[in-house]
Parts: sequence; C-alpha cells; structure tokens
Amino acid sequence: MADIELLAASGAETAAKIKSGELSADEVLAFWLDRAGRDRLNGYLWQADRDSARQGLGEGGPLDGVPLAIKDIFCTEGVPTTAASRILGGYVPPYTATSVRKAMAAGMPMLGKTNMDEFAMGSSNENSAFGACLNPWDTERVPGGSSGGSAAVVAGGLAPWSLGTDTGGSIRQPAGFCGIVGLKPTYGAISRFGMIAFASSLDQCGPLTRNVTDAALLLNVLQGRDEMDSTSVGIEGGIKAPDAERLDGMTFGVPRALMGEGIEAGVLARFEDTLIRIAELGGEIVDIELPHAGHAISAYYVLAPAEASTNLSRYDGVRYGLRASNEDLLSMYEVTREDGFGPEVKRRIMLGTYALSSGYYDAYYGRAQRVRTRIVEDFEKAFGEVDFVVTPTSPTVAFKLGEKTSDPWTMYLSDVFTVPISLAGVPAISIPAGLAEPDGGGSELPVGFQIAAPAFAEQKLLEASYALEQAIGFDGSAALEGGVS
Ligand code: GLN
Repeated sequence: MADIELLAASGAETAAKIKSGELSADEVLAFWLDRAGRDRLNGYLWQADRDSARQGLGEGGPLDGVPLAIKDIFCTEGVPTTAASRILGGYVPPYTATSVRKAMAAGMPMLGKTNMDEFAMGSSNENSAFGACLNPWDTERVPGGSSGGSAAVVAGGLAPWSLGTDTGGSIRQPAGFCGIVGLKPTYGAISRFGMIAFASSLDQCGPLTRNVTDAALLLNVLQGRDEMDSTSVGIEGGIKAPDAERLDGMTFGVPRALMGEGIEAGVLARFEDTLIRIAELGGEIVDIELPHAGHAISAYYVLAPAEASTNLSRYDGVRYGLRASNEDLLSMYEVTREDGFGPEVKRRIMLGTYALSSGYYDAYYGRAQRVRTRIVEDFEKAFGEVDFVVTPTSPTVAFKLGEKTSDPWTMYLSDVFTVPISLAGVPAISIPAGLAEPDGGGSELPVGFQIAAPAFAEQKLLEASYALEQAIGFDGSAALEGGVS
C-alpha cells in the first residue's frame, strides 16, 4: 500500500487492512512513528519509539495496530505526563489512565503525548508551558484548545486519531478549527480515572478523528463503567458503527437567540448551508430557546476555576514533579507554585479561591450552581421538543497566534456554543461543515458544525452526524502534509 494511501486512511480503514493481512501492524507503526518524528507543529510533547509504543499492548484487539496519539493530560505508566505544565516537569506516573489502558487493550499502540493548554485551561494551545502548537491549515494560526495538539496531529497527518479531553469545549473547538471530528460524550460515559483533573464535574475524555465512523469505534472501546471512577456509568449496549443515510423524522433545534453578535460571516454561511443539507436529508429545522445559555460562560468561569483551585492544590512541591525550593516548608510551597504554574493557571486558581471563600461562596459559587441548574433544565425542555440542538462549534475560524492572548475575556468567548452543553452534561460532536474565509479576509479555513443530543443518546447522535457527513463530503486532505517538515 502506498504511503499516501496509508496517510489518508481512516482508523477504521487501517484496522481493516491490518485484519485482512494487506498491511502488517509493524509497517503501520513504523510509518506513523516516522511521520510523528517529523512534527513541525509542536504537536507532540513526547514521542514513542518502537518499544515504548508497544508497552501495555493487548493482542489482536478490535483496533489492533492502529496507533493512537494521547493528550498529555492522561497518566501513562513509565511515560512522562506533564499536562503541559512546568509543575509536572519530570513526573512519570506509576499507573495508566483507564481510557488509555482500554485503548491499548484494543490493540492500539501509543504514538506519543500531545501538546495542550496547561492543565487544559485555554482555547488556543498558547497556554502550554512548552510552546504553542500550530494549525496545519495555516501555521500562523492556532489549532484551538485545549486539546490543540490532539487535533493538529490528526489533521496534519501526524497520527490517524487521538484522545482529548473536553471541560468546556476542548475537544469540539480544536476539532472545528482543524477540520476534523471531535466528540464529547455524555458526562460519565468514559472513566476519568488517570485523567489529570481540571474541573471534575465537567471533564470528559473523547476521540478526535478523521471521520464519524472512527469516533464511534473509539467511543465504543473507551466507554464503560469503571470501579476506579464512581461517576462513570458507560453507555448501555455500547456503540456500533453508524450507517444512517437519511434524517427523516429527526428534528434539529436552532437556538437563534444565542447566535447573536460576534459570529463571523463565513462561519454563519457554512452553518446555514448545513441546515439546508439537513432539510435535504429529510430532517426538520425548528427554532428553539435556551433562555439561560447566554449566562453559561459567566457561570462556567466561576465553577471551573473553583473546582480547579481545589484540584490543583495538590501540586505543592511534595508529591509531584517540580520542587523549586528546599528552604522551609512554606517557601517550598510558594516558590514551587510561583515558578511551576503559568499565568492562566494562576488566574484561575485566584478566581476559584476567591469564589469559594467563605464571605463570597453563596454570591458566586452558589449562584453559578443555580445558573447551571437552569441551563440543565433549558436543555431538558429543548430535548422534549427536538432530537438535537445545533450551532456552529465556534463563532470564528482558527484565529492568529497572539491575536487573543492579551484579552482573556475574548478568548473565553470562543467557547460560547460549547460551554452550555458541558454545563448540561450532554453529548455533542463537532463535524467539519466546509471552509470559510476569516472576517477581514485570508485563505479559507475549516468551520465546525456542532450537534448536541440528550444524555446517553450517542448512537443517535453518531447516526445523524454520519448521514450529514456523507452529504457534506468535506475533504481535509489539504492539511495532511501541513504537519511534517
Ligand atoms: N476553553 C475553555 C477553558 O479555558 C475550555 C477548556 C476545556 O474544555 N478544557 O476553560
């Protein structure tokens, strides 16, 4: 098989060729290790070699031999795990995250650990302590975040597929910016054990893939109840490869009021084109209201930092990675945290600590929790009326490096469509809806289309996404050579 075919093959196609004997797992691994070794996107923070890629591997699993890139937020035994933070410099976990373990039991070698925003806090991958990751469509632009590396390596031909995490949009937004598929499952579908915690009530693991079928295959392997994570429940009956061709009888709700200002013209145009495709396939478009979703970003930036401030208190120079001073206990804590955390992480720890302080707890944290409940109810009501809720994944296409770094609030607004879904805990996918010019002109970049479904309706979500994907016929091959030097 020619290299160019292997490069363009989906995970499912590669798995099938290995099963039929057309390709050997060895040659597939060698091909991808070579590609990953030529990374010019700063997509990988650590790369496997032939031996380390095979560590922990099962024999002859369903996805045998198809290598997987893994966000550096998943603990991997014997392999450095940093969450892109200096404070975890030198940390080598003694155990492997359940999701990674399951992927390996299914036969997937680990290709490497991917770049990300520090502790998954960000929307551009620029908060990585190890330098920004670049977008393979245009290396002057960000790949999105926080799973920017996981999206860039898949889109840029440095991995067939990858794992990411999504707290407020970190799988869907970078998938949208890089022209690939990103799925955030229902909260609880996949174990969080071994996933370095950011905001535990929101964090979810999920796949970033070339197409919807691959997302289904990976989800099926990853999902399930895990006794190491009491919030995990799995998806009853598992997940099958989707095969729907039509959308007859399905209703798609559009929360028009949420889609006010700030959406680029090109993004809106691709969104409207996709609604037309849905109608052509027999689906019905309905206007819906999510009356409280406009408050989602404000609530999220109280709740997520509050949870982060407690989750990150464990990094004190005693137990993990960096120890910046030995003078006395207090200065060890202080200097380690001062040197070890980047500015965005410090901002969130301060925000969260303040929001949880006794005098302000109810005014901030308590109120944000009440807003979250309203948003949950908004989605429950919406899903009483429609099968799916659809929006653009992000209001813009991938922006330029440095464009939003000086203004956290503008950066936070890039998650305006993804965060409400995270607060509601329901599943959502981003699929490529075509290309569009950024406002102000420039070459065309991918636009993501987001579809959300009721809790644990992943199979239905994947069927609808698959039908739509076939109708859209997006071709991401232009970026495949963008990742290698
Ligand atoms: N961009 C959002 C944030 O900075 C979401 C990040 C995420 O989903 N991990 O918190």
